[in-house]
Amino acid sequence: MITVRVTRRGADRWAGGHPWIYRSDTLDEPAGPGLVRVVDRRGTFLGQALYSPASEIRLRLLEPSQRPVDAEWWTERLGACLARRGDLDPTAVRLVHAEGDGLPSLVVDRYDRWAVVQLLTAGLETMREGILDALERVLRPAGILLRHDATVRRHEDLPLEVVVARGEVPERIEVREGPVRYWVTPRTGQKTGAYLDQRANRIRAGQLTRPGGRALDCFAYHASFALHLAGRAAEVLAIESSEDAVARGRENAALNGLTNIFWRPGNAFDVLAELDQAGARFDLVVVDPPAFAKSRAALEPALRGYGEINRRAMRLLAPEGIMVTSSCSFHLRRPDFAALVARAAGDAGRRLVVLERFGAGADHPEVVTIPETGYLKGMILRADD
Ligand code: SAH
Repeated sequence: MITVRVTRRGADRWAGGHPWIYRSDTLDEPAGPGLVRVVDRRGTFLGQALYSPASEIRLRLLEPSQRPVDAEWWTERLGACLARRGDLDPTAVRLVHAEGDGLPSLVVDRYDRWAVVQLLTAGLETMREGILDALERVLRPAGILLRHDATVRRHEDLPLEVVVARGEVPERIEVREGPVRYWVTPRTGQKTGAYLDQRANRIRAGQLTRPGGRALDCFAYHASFALHLAGRAAEVLAIESSEDAVARGRENAALNGLTNIFWRPGNAFDVLAELDQAGARFDLVVVDPPAFAKSRAALEPALRGYGEINRRAMRLLAPEGIMVTSSCSFHLRRPDFAALVARAAGDAGRRLVVLERFGAGADHPEVVTIPETGYLKGMILRADD
């Protein structure tokens, strides 16, 4: 195995519980990706890591001991991930949350009998067959799809592709989520087909919906929140810019026998302004925008976007109305999110009370020393004015 030396600062990152070592702290640069032995300047062994020659994140710690990372290792580690999720509904669950599960850059989502996998670094790609073999052993899926069209693979010089790696994978898979069901489209849907991180929050939003009231789902995707709101509300308005998502959202409503979800295809910023002008008010509003800040540099304009969308949504709250607002941008940290919500409330002239704060579900473990594993944050607010 190739050996890579790192600086003191690089070694300190691992000692502090974060698995990444950057290019600037890497002293050797082997040409090809793969699993490497990492040592400090004096040659002391530090761990085995995935090495990415093209990425700024050069090393990701995989195994701190000298134990071989072989078939048995993968079977054990994937089995442990599965065991940790024993109490979750198996029809739609994240089985491996990458760094959050100690398996950097590996994502495995399970939809019923199928697995959707992402190997997001060049180092991990060199171990593809071994990982898939182990996944077949522990999960026995009917098929495995590689959603390798995630753009982060570009940083690794990896091709963007969607490949059925094992067995067969259908165009759509029906899954359950609390009281509702929906179709996941693993090949073409966003992410791996669904946003599993908001699963528990969608169920909660449904519980908080006023029976017979009016609800609004901004950034609705395939009706994820809307399905839950529609179980109680008299009607739900769903705003979504992707035509494909709207089409599938209509199918998901039909799957649940719901006829009270009305769609406003288009830009949520514009639609909210129009609704306000028309004097529309809602008893529950969900704001779940895409990651406006994909990098730290993009944070400034993203802050304005988040602030604006929250302000507009707050204006639409009926008295006692409930707002479920969230952000999945890692670069927008929790305190900044809270400050942004506060500013938006001030600008909207609303007195809002915090009912609950939330993050991603338990199948997306957040490691305290790895803030990137806890990117999703949200608040449930009530208009008390
Ligand atoms: N709430 C969803 C996830 C939303 S992801 C869930 O729980 O599954 C963000 C969604 O917003 C995507 O479906 C994307 O197509 C849509 N979108 C992005 N920009 C938008 C805009 N300006 N107006 C309306 N929808 C937008």
